[in-house]
Amino acid sequence: MPGTVKEALAPAKTEQYQRQILSKIHDVRQGLSARRAAEFVQRPEEPLDFGDWCQKSHDEWLFVNQNRLETAQLRELEAALRRLDRGTFGICEGCGEPISEKRLEAVPWAKFCIPCYERARLEEEE
Ligand SMILES: [Zn+2]
Repeated sequence: MPGTVKEALAPAKTEQYQRQILSKIHDVRQGLSARRAAEFVQRPEEPLDFGDWCQKSHDEWLFVNQNRLETAQLRELEAALRRLDRGTFGICEGCGEPISEKRLEAVPWAKFCIPCYERARLEEEE
């Protein structure tokens, strides 16, 4: 391994983050497939009346929405693994500064440092 970019991150740390990210990916995937299975089992045989139909379309909306969140989260997690591979892990995508170790330990897939994250979040709310 050409050891130029990676010197910021000890190999043991890389492994630890990788494990954390992989286990998170596993959790998210399990959540997705568990709900897909539940949806499949619950298909009603009888025609629904209007009240049921409203409830059902609301449930479906929640289901789809939740899946979308988790799919987005999986993409973030996979991007973090790629950053680990490339040696750009722990570098903020907003300002290019290293993300603090404390933050990475809490959220290993973070792509922004706290100030950039706060800024991105505020912009989203506008
Ligand atoms: Zn930043």
